[in-house]
Amino acid sequence: MTTSPRRYHITTFGCQMNKADSERMAGILEDMGFEWSEDPNNAKVILYNTCTIRDNAEQKVYSYLGRQAKRKHEEPDLTLVVAGCVAQQEGEALLRRVPELDLVMGPQHANRLKELLEQVLDGNQVVATEPIQIVEDITKPRRDSTVSAWVNVIYGCNERCTYCVVPSVRGVEQSRTPEAIRAEMEELSHQGYKEITLLGQNIDAYGRDLPGVTKEGRHQHTLTDLLYYVHDVPGIERIRFATSHPRYFTERLIQACAELPKVCEHFHIPFQSGDNELLKAMARGYTHEKYRRIIDTIRRYMPDASITADAIVGFPGETEQQFENTLKLIEDISFDLVNTAAYSPRPGTPAAVWDQQLSEQVKSDRLQRINHLVSIQAAERSQRYFGRIEEVLVEDQNQKDPTQVMGRTRGNRLTFFKGSIAQLKGQIVQVKITEVRPFSLTGEPLAVLPLPPTPSQV
Ligand code: SF4
Repeated sequence: MTTSPRRYHITTFGCQMNKADSERMAGILEDMGFEWSEDPNNAKVILYNTCTIRDNAEQKVYSYLGRQAKRKHEEPDLTLVVAGCVAQQEGEALLRRVPELDLVMGPQHANRLKELLEQVLDGNQVVATEPIQIVEDITKPRRDSTVSAWVNVIYGCNERCTYCVVPSVRGVEQSRTPEAIRAEMEELSHQGYKEITLLGQNIDAYGRDLPGVTKEGRHQHTLTDLLYYVHDVPGIERIRFATSHPRYFTERLIQACAELPKVCEHFHIPFQSGDNELLKAMARGYTHEKYRRIIDTIRRYMPDASITADAIVGFPGETEQQFENTLKLIEDISFDLVNTAAYSPRPGTPAAVWDQQLSEQVKSDRLQRINHLVSIQAAERSQRYFGRIEEVLVEDQNQKDPTQVMGRTRGNRLTFFKGSIAQLKGQIVQVKITEVRPFSLTGEPLAVLPLPPTPSQV
């Protein structure tokens, strides 16, 4: 009997947390001897890592799943897995809807994939959605980039934003210890990674569930302390973090970012709405005045910092005037990018059952208007790069033009220039910017900056 390699395929929907979870699960599958297959139809384990936040992601999961469920009738050894937020929310109901499924697992169970698959291979249909103490990452993630990696620092969220399913699907906050985070960064540096993005659903909550209080009465472990603690990991040249919450964002953190050279001057701080009444209804815990003060403080310390954000339009009850307050905030602040979304009710969240849901037409009209403003503003903000020399960390080849490589500035602008990926991958290159577009730049390379050897080279 010939044994063909056992292949797996993962399709990921949604946020960076899901992408990071998928990478960890891919690492577990590879440790189990599976090989990646780009085409799901050649894979024997198919995993959908799902999201309930973005519109139509949920619908897509069902349609992909339907196709593979049919295939399973011909190939009974196919293993079908649904992970992530839809799995957490739907649980057993998913098995009733798609009885061909083998495993339904919530995001807190990502690190248990091996054990859960073993139960499946023993002939069980498994549902793992109960809240658990997250097991420390002992896996080797398979990372899509070989230059830039994500590192989870806190799982879950204790906020109760009225539109969001995250707290109910990802559970309460659980911070990893600074030692575990640093050890993972050191390991990534050994593998040749140059940039780390520290991740948390609400990263400013980092450490408040860990023991220890300083003599000034604040938590001993905060995101700011973590940045100081991991900043000198040799071989890691850039550090970013996301997602920030205006309610907990501190001047101490801003000072640390200004002071620590590896921390990039890029801040992703969702404001969601520019109207105080709506912010209250969303239970966000800050006012637009506070948000403006945060941005002023960032710009006082780092005048050129990139500022990006998320905004929701068409929240239940949003009046035209309230929507215009959001536009006004965008006009006043001038963002590098705002990710926008029309409100869409998520089952199990308070706002989903409120009266005063707006019509799809009003929502889509407001979405178009906000997007128009965002792209004009992004184009204006891009202008400041023209003629400047920027440091670009090279990540990959430009898929559309193989004579070019692509990377990001410290401010996170995607930048293209002529060069060979074989020579430049993972290098920081000084690039003179010659062309600007709203969301990307093109330039001419001037010099490759000398980097200290990575720990694995010494
Ligand atoms: S902070 Fe609010 S929006 Fe963000 S994950 Fe927590 S509940 Fe959801």
